[in-house]
Amino acid sequence: MSIYIESNKETIASLANTRQEENITFRSFLKKRDAASIDNLVFKINEIVEDKIDCTDCGACCNGLMINVTELESERVAEHLLMSKTDFKEKYIEESLGGQLIINTIPCHFLNEKKCTIYENRFKECREFPHLNRPHFTDRLFGTLIHYSICPIIYNVVEQLKIETNFIENKK
Ligand code: SF4
Ligand code: SF4
Repeated sequence: MSIYIESNKETIASLANTRQEENITFRSFLKKRDAASIDNLVFKINEIVEDKIDCTDCGACCNGLMINVTELESERVAEHLLMSKTDFKEKYIEESLGGQLIINTIPCHFLNEKKCTIYENRFKECREFPHLNRPHFTDRLFGTLIHYSICPIIYNVVEQLKIETNFIENKK
């Protein structure tokens, strides 16, 4: 599979703007397809795209995502920053009524320009975004497409998926 990769963020944002209607139609189109086959296609495309996009030179998701963290992760990062667990939590973490820990600012505290300053110790949720290697892609279309205009990985995977599923042909 050969994929044209668009990595210019301004171009992606501008194309995304013109493709809002198209993406709504694509969502409905995908919902009618076999979910497991779509997952397999997304896995294959994602493997190629992920390899060609450098997240350490992007950081766009760190500007907009709410990051859930676990107790263990928060302890690990506190240790990495040579802080006590208590000071770390006080400074960087908010705890919901249900006990869920989240980073208490968006953009994330640990983003410096485009770079994550705790990259090797970043949280599981950061490592797993944009979740394109997880099954049930068609159940997460809304959440995924929200980030289509800012995440070059999502943009390129979705655009290639339009080609691989013949969506573009069917649209003509
Ligand atoms: S911890 Fe790092 S990767 Fe995660 S949101 Fe913050 S800056 Fe981004
Ligand atoms: S996951 Fe997407 S938005 Fe986040 S840094 Fe990588 S390419 Fe950028």
